[in-house]
Amino acid sequence: RQGAGPANAAPFLRISGIDKRFGSFSALRNVSLDVEDGEFICFLGPSGCGKSTLLRIIAGLEQQNAGTIHSLGQDISNLPPAQRQFGILFQSYALFPNLNVRENIVYGLRNRRMRGAEIDSRLHELLELIDLKGSERKYPAQLSGGQQQRVALARAIAPAPRLLLLDEPLSALDAKVRVHLRQQIRDLQRRLGLTAIMVTHDQEEALSMADRVVAMRDGEVEQIGTPTEIYHTPRSLFVAGFVGKMNILPGRVAGGRLSIGSLNYAVPALYDTAENQGEVIACLRPEQMRLRPLNASEAGDALPAQVTHLEFLGSAWRVTLVVPALGDIEVTADLSSRDMADAPVAIGDRMGVVLPSERLVVFPASQTSQVR
Ligand code: ATP
Repeated sequence: RQGAGPANAAPFLRISGIDKRFGSFSALRNVSLDVEDGEFICFLGPSGCGKSTLLRIIAGLEQQNAGTIHSLGQDISNLPPAQRQFGILFQSYALFPNLNVRENIVYGLRNRRMRGAEIDSRLHELLELIDLKGSERKYPAQLSGGQQQRVALARAIAPAPRLLLLDEPLSALDAKVRVHLRQQIRDLQRRLGLTAIMVTHDQEEALSMADRVVAMRDGEVEQIGTPTEIYHTPRSLFVAGFVGKMNILPGRVAGGRLSIGSLNYAVPALYDTAENQGEVIACLRPEQMRLRPLNASEAGDALPAQVTHLEFLGSAWRVTLVVPALGDIEVTADLSSRDMADAPVAIGDRMGVVLPSERLVVFPASQTSQVR
């Protein structure tokens, strides 16, 4: 290879221009992505956007109509799944019910010509990693859902795969187990230095686990970024609305200035684009929104609004308000319990809504149809 130095070495995995059709239905269009060694990537998007299909193409379980997949510079586009040496974990535990924990885990090592002692030491290492020491003789039916999924995880990583592929591995589990397993999977992946790709439709799961999130919509990649980039600087209204709650406010851009009702700001640099002219949508997360008592002397930096609804979320209060100056749209502001204790807000109160300019996100009004 030409000029293969550390700076321009082949990426661990390079997905280029993948197209996939099922009959006349186009499931993936021109999907490209580089994955670095040791990264944890999440494919995030609503049901039907093509996440699982993309994962299955990477695994070799599905054949793309166009595009290539390279691993460390080697074209693996047409290799059968077994030769790719990737570990796969699906939503359903897929353990063999008639085999015990030990037999399930070492199942994948059968073809590896490992000696008995080697297999035993690998097994014990794995049982320790998944926190199931002493359970090797139990059968799947004797384990909880979370334990079964940990066994399936151990089975997937037993042969030391080059890449771990996870298809909604946590979605069949209840909330508490799911959160615990997120951490376990992540710890394990870090400790073993594995590269992993996980499919999920759960934005919280993606944000909490991924090094980088690949946000997908209708068979295309919308944005690739770290969780904080995806959350704070979404590049489309679809991503803004899919990942967490977002207030959507009508605005106008002219001459580099953004106006929302009577408020006026410089357009945030990242969103100062040729597209963002005239009618726009300005977005702000509920926790970024500030409320303050309305008094006539300083009305200029706040939008007058009235509280219509209060919801206690445990760690915060979600306040719903209507804003007459913006055509009576509803906005929500999340106040911490401390904010609420310092300056209580009640239904019917007239408040000023303050929009901190540094967190405003702007899109062309034509993207309105992208939010559900
Ligand atoms: P979900 O979370 O619901 O599984 P997804 O984003 O993983 O959604 P895919 O399973 O990749 O979506 O499916 C993408 C689209 O391709 C869907 O509209 C699905 O109906 C279609 N599709 C997937 N597999 C096939 C197939 N074998 N034959 C026909 N259509 C398929």
